[in-house]
Amino acid sequence: YTGRSGSELFSQKLKQIKVKDYQSIPVVVDENVSVYDAICTMFLEDVGTLFVVNGKSDLAGVLSRKDLLRASLGKQDLNEVPVHIIMTRMPNITMCEKDDLLIEAAQKLIEKQIDALPVVKKSEEGYEVIGRITKTNMTRVLVELARDER
Ligand code: ADP
Repeated sequence: YTGRSGSELFSQKLKQIKVKDYQSIPVVVDENVSVYDAICTMFLEDVGTLFVVNGKSDLAGVLSRKDLLRASLGKQDLNEVPVHIIMTRMPNITMCEKDDLLIEAAQKLIEKQIDALPVVKKSEEGYEVIGRITKTNMTRVLVELARDER
């Protein structure tokens, strides 16, 4: 018996898990689509966060459920307002990369009090969005690690 406690084994296992092992497919919209269309996309794709890209397919911003709700409270015609007006924009986007530790991504979600991170890959002029990490991915890890212990 090595004398390692259960929690030591658990944290050792956790520190081997990378973002790429659990990332989901990102749902992206162009920065010029309307708030109305973004709301439709959020429902149709069944996600809570949309990533916004510019004409070069680089990350431009993030849209959460509350961003879209807030925009819907005003008197504007939602078909006329492009999402780049209301999104949280670069460079204020918290991101991660596929080879980052998943636990580091989890720390970012907690620290920034957000639901999702884009998984990005540096491109010539910006960041290409290649994945999505959400609190749901984190919950899946928890369930799978608990299953391993039995
Ligand atoms: P909700 O608004 O549905 O509670 P979040 O907590 O994820 O969802 O979003 C809170 C705010 O933080 C929103 O204004 C959103 O645009 C912004 N936000 C969400 N994800 C990120 C991110 N990865 N980087 C920077 N800002 C983000």
